[in-house]
Amino acid sequence: MNAGQPVVSPDPALPFGVTASAWRDPAPRVVVRAGAAALDVAALADRGIVSSGAGPGRVGWWQSGSLDAFLAAGRTAWQQVLGELRAAVSDPAALPADAVLGLDEVQLVLPYSVADYVDFYASEHHAMNLGRILRPGQPALPPNWRHLPIGYHGRSGTVVVSGTPVRRPRGQHRVDDADRPEFGPTQRLDVEVEVGFVVGAASRHGEPVPVEAFAEHVFGVCLVNDWSARDIQAWEYQPLGPFLGKSFATSVSAWVVPLEALEAARVPVASAATELTPYLREVEPWGLDVSLELSVNGEVLTRPPFSSMFWSAAQMLAHQTVNGASVRTGDLFASGTVSGSSPDEVGSLIELSHNTKFLADGDDVVIRATAPGSDGTTVDLGEVRGSILPALG
Ligand code: MN
Repeated sequence: MNAGQPVVSPDPALPFGVTASAWRDPAPRVVVRAGAAALDVAALADRGIVSSGAGPGRVGWWQSGSLDAFLAAGRTAWQQVLGELRAAVSDPAALPADAVLGLDEVQLVLPYSVADYVDFYASEHHAMNLGRILRPGQPALPPNWRHLPIGYHGRSGTVVVSGTPVRRPRGQHRVDDADRPEFGPTQRLDVEVEVGFVVGAASRHGEPVPVEAFAEHVFGVCLVNDWSARDIQAWEYQPLGPFLGKSFATSVSAWVVPLEALEAARVPVASAATELTPYLREVEPWGLDVSLELSVNGEVLTRPPFSSMFWSAAQMLAHQTVNGASVRTGDLFASGTVSGSSPDEVGSLIELSHNTKFLADGDDVVIRATAPGSDGTTVDLGEVRGSILPALG
């Protein structure tokens, strides 16, 4: 390795992404992050260092410049490729120079085609906080909350990659208890700090995915900012749930961290201690000890702990398919706002400011996260960033 080459570290987490182009090729390419370098997976496959998935009548996983084909390939393929990549980064000097890019050379794009997008509401602290703010005088938690992971279907077509600016939406909202709504730019633009799960292998329509089959279907984890216009949301959400207050944009991190890299981060979740309907019973329901951090204009405002969630990701997958609805390659489901028990651990500005302070035009919002990795290492889940553009005039 020469002095100018980016440093490949034997990072066992191996987050996957897609760069819009590499210096030698104007087409998008799948890359894997390893320390200060990004490895061009197609170039490694060309040398036989990583499997290509190609065969008689089959194009390879890395040909399309998207993660879609590799996600669809399923768990056996994921394990094989991750093993090959771990072996490759353990001997950086042996990597072909044209497979090693600097992180500053990659322009990360949305790495897979987002199929369906579902967002849950799996933090009890968040649900309690929101209930108190939105429905004062009523029970904070709805009666179904501890019996099923509440969710809604979002708009997959407006899921955008980290770095994409977000335009302040306009819509109907009601000021105090006025008789009529007003129309205009949201005055209460908020963030929701969340963790997302990326589905690789599809399920069959008509067949629920049991909690035990979670790892057969879910490839990895990303960070999510579920931008929310609280005034639009408050006026529209009853009785059918969030609609235009959420669907204008959802930002995701550019890197997808394989679930396999997060085994050391597993922690029990609170639903374990609850009497559940059989399809939600998991022997040891697990969450992840992901430490999140929300910054606005460079100032850290809050540090939500994903370890505090009530529902597990396997319970969320089992619930969204229990009626026979199928999941597809590229489905994204997010946890819902992550809020811990203390005021400096909440995952939204509505909670942080008690419904008084929201985003201004030009604000730069960043969510970052880390988790414990194997052998005392730290897994960097990267960041999801977005800045606020003024509303259309
Ligand atoms: Mn949300």
